[in-house]
Amino acid sequence: MSPLDASSHVVVVGAGLAGWRTVEALRDAGFDGALTLVGEEPHPPYDRPPLSKQVLSGRLGPDILPLERRPVEVVRRFGVAATALDAGRRRVWLSDGSEIAATHVVVATGARARRLEVTAAEGVHTLRTRDDLDRLLGALERLGPGDRVAVIGGGFIGAEVATALHARGLVPIVVEALARPLIGALGPRVSAWLMDLPSRADIEVRCRQVVRDVVPRASGWRVELAEGDLDVDLVVAGIGADPNVEWLAGSGLEIDRGVVVDEQLEASEGVAAVGDVARFAWAGPLGLERIRVEHWQVAADHALALASWWTGRGAPAPLVPYFWSDQYGTKIQLLGHPHADDEVDLVLGQPTDDRWLALYHRGGRVSGAVARRHPRALMLARPLVEVGTPLDEALRAAPWAG
Ligand SMILES: Cc1cc2nc3c(=O)[nH]c(=O)nc-3n(C[C@H](O)[C@H](O)[C@H](O)COP(=O)(O)OP(=O)(O)OC[C@H]3O[C@@H](n4cnc5c(N)ncnc54)[C@H](O)[C@@H]3O)c2cc1C
Repeated sequence: MSPLDASSHVVVVGAGLAGWRTVEALRDAGFDGALTLVGEEPHPPYDRPPLSKQVLSGRLGPDILPLERRPVEVVRRFGVAATALDAGRRRVWLSDGSEIAATHVVVATGARARRLEVTAAEGVHTLRTRDDLDRLLGALERLGPGDRVAVIGGGFIGAEVATALHARGLVPIVVEALARPLIGALGPRVSAWLMDLPSRADIEVRCRQVVRDVVPRASGWRVELAEGDLDVDLVVAGIGADPNVEWLAGSGLEIDRGVVVDEQLEASEGVAAVGDVARFAWAGPLGLERIRVEHWQVAADHALALASWWTGRGAPAPLVPYFWSDQYGTKIQLLGHPHADDEVDLVLGQPTDDRWLALYHRGGRVSGAVARRHPRALMLARPLVEVGTPLDEALRAAPWAG
């Protein structure tokens, strides 16, 4: 691929974190050609993690959300969606009927909250966008202390929403289909070590409960569960997200639960994908994998990596996936991309402790690290995850003890 020059026109589709950071990184890398940012949402780019944390709990107002902290020269087309792409000719069509001719296109359309298919689907809130937040805050205005909220899904978003609602004086009840929250994301052992978190925070979690339906009552909602029903004043679902790829049908790009891209994040000549929407080739320490991750840091790192590659500064070092979550008053952090069947051992603290560090390993080499309330230990373990250090060597070195 030939580097960008002053005659290039880069169109970035999707004005979330990955899209905005790509625009910033291209300018920072010296790109002085034409740059257009297309965003379906009417709002300027904003940050999503605070939606389910500081802003929903009422600790901070939405003024902490904007991503734009310094002026960047870019043509902004907000409030219009891209409806089609011709990847070969680099043409983008928009919902207002216009068409943009580009030399390079970046797909940064992220993901959307999965909806529950129930009778009262329109009464069930989700939390992905600023508009979702406004609708949820509006509904909360009609509730008072002690009112009950069903939070469907005990994953990261569900746990954070429950924590924030509890801080507002409401009574969240988390409904989880699996045996334990986070079992899919962190595995059976780690999820067991975290099982005490909700009760310590005085929040009820009902596991192994599949939602059969949500129906309206005279006042509020009935969540029909496999075992017993739940009458509540509000329902919020956090049951995962799906990549926004439908607009790419017929584009010529390979779509497989995301946009398939190579190690340089390129899908075809002059077309790349970044952030939550990208299924990228990741040269991890334990081999090449094709992964899609919905993590803030990965979206930010993708933007830097693509800008570096497209401006001729070379490919940066492979990224190390990183995720954090603030739930039930505790910070959980994960480094690496461990598989569901990787083994995991605590290396600092005990399962019953409030703070610990554990290492995931596969084939005798470190594949990830997870920390409960121990950011320093996690960061000290980072070099082990970066190179996939043999486990025995990692345990001897024990950098977290330093
Ligand atoms: C409530 C919440 C809390 C989170 N907390 C954490 C956390 O604690 N830690 C963490 O690591 N990650 C967290 N995340 C995940 C993190 O925010 C995402 O990984 C990040 O937002 C991904 O950025 P993105 O730009 O790839 O996608 P998005 O943020 O989804 O942005 C994509 C943008 O593209 C737009 N778009 C979609 N289709 C089109 C189209 N056809 N045309 C034009 N525009 C389009 C969308 O409207 C959207 O604005 C959280 C996410 C949410 C929702």
